[in-house]
Amino acid sequence: MSHSVQRLGRNKGGYLGETIDIHQVLRDDLEAARRFGWQIEEIPVSGNLDLLAFRRVVQAPSKKLYISAGIHGDEPAGPLAVRQLLRENEWPDHANIWICPCLNPTGFPLNRRENADGVDLNRDYRHLRSAEIRAHVVWLNQQPNFDLTLCLHEDWESHGFYIYEVNPDHEPSLGEKMMQAVSKVCPIDLSTVIEDRPAQGGIIRPGIDPATRPQWPEAFYLVMNKTRHSYTPEAPSDFPLPTRVAALATAVRVVLDEI
Ligand SMILES: [Zn+2]
Repeated sequence: MSHSVQRLGRNKGGYLGETIDIHQVLRDDLEAARRFGWQIEEIPVSGNLDLLAFRRVVQAPSKKLYISAGIHGDEPAGPLAVRQLLRENEWPDHANIWICPCLNPTGFPLNRRENADGVDLNRDYRHLRSAEIRAHVVWLNQQPNFDLTLCLHEDWESHGFYIYEVNPDHEPSLGEKMMQAVSKVCPIDLSTVIEDRPAQGGIIRPGIDPATRPQWPEAFYLVMNKTRHSYTPEAPSDFPLPTRVAALATAVRVVLDEI
């Protein structure tokens, strides 16, 4: 099936594809969250800006999973995959789940990576210069530690789906299972170098010590403070949007099945 999906060749120098009405997507999320009994939180950022967070609490949780999306405003597939998963409502009965469905609500109306002030929020987790990430970190620090975290992204330059896995304790990896499942709905980027890092079968396992890095993406903050195992799935945004949404939703479902 994936063989029939072709690169569009449209996105040169940046993402020029479909945009979404993020406020409508978040209203849809809220509707699903209310219907299916999620706890809903509004994280105050500034003025009239809030970040949404959803929490699913089960009777006897043995696992804790965190999912975020929409930190880059030119990556619509993440928020759409979250909406699809919320509507499907198929979650493991033994896991508490936290979802931040959109961390950059001012970037999406501009279809740009950064927030409205021009800050790349996914480089701001070390120095906390933006109000969004300061608020997000305050909220994160009120939550327990997570067994696994997923940060949903897209990459307009990639030839297919890939993931970053940060797993310093070498816990059993779901990377290969994710690749196998996603390959049925979306091409995988099999390049041996992706984003200047060695990759194998679409999986980048960066041997980086975040303490030595001047700028932190969300995943580094999570690994340094909230989890010991993080996945960053990257959908290829030069492919049709439904393909990318299916890729990210499939990657999350592998975690839901295996956690
Ligand atoms: Zn991104």
